[in-house]
Amino acid sequence: MLRALYPGRFQPFHLGHLSVIKWSLEKADQIIILIGSSQESHTLSNPFTAGERIEMIKTALEEYEIDSSRYFLIPIPDILMNSVWAYHVKTYVPSFNLVIARNPLVIRLFKEANLAVEEPPIFNREKYNSTLIRKMIITGEEWKELVPNSVYTYIKSIKGDERLKEIAGTDKRW
Ligand code: NAP
Repeated sequence: MLRALYPGRFQPFHLGHLSVIKWSLEKADQIIILIGSSQESHTLSNPFTAGERIEMIKTALEEYEIDSSRYFLIPIPDILMNSVWAYHVKTYVPSFNLVIARNPLVIRLFKEANLAVEEPPIFNREKYNSTLIRKMIITGEEWKELVPNSVYTYIKSIKGDERLKEIAGTDKRW
């Protein structure tokens, strides 16, 4: 059984993330989707709670008919010590034999913990990029096409777009 671990913040979950998951499931039997920085929410960089991110990813995977027996959604808070983060993660998730990541720090930390890491291809990053999508939500540009339909509907239903616009009025950090 090949089980892959895919860490991300998913703020928000977009079609690039979805492509990484589909690509991973072509090689792995199961994928653990690690919802990182789970303690964060209501900021410009991390507008959505861990619970909201679980809901948006779950609804997207259902929309794309990815069998629920093939994935785990596990939120994990950050810790201050990068040097032990990979071990911290291992205590929260089922065992895995492969890490899927492009983030250089994440790759470094798992390699130093002697875990195999594979980099997925880049899927249209000019469009599928969470930072860009958050900016588009704030400036009122059309972002619907950049996320699964179910994610768009979910964010609208919790008024996540309004939250981000309001936060942008009070918090100047991106
Ligand atoms: P992210 O921005 O949501 O991205 C998740 C992954 O998807 C990254 O590997 C990213 O690659 C990839 N990706 C995004 N768009 C893509 C596209 N269009 N095509 C292909 N790949 C794409 O999340 P992240 O910031 O990397 O998440 C890492 C998490 O680990 C964070 O929550 C962080 O806090 C946590 N962490 C914690 C510690 C600690 O607690 N000490 C240490 C390290 C990491 P790119 O990176 O190339 O965008």
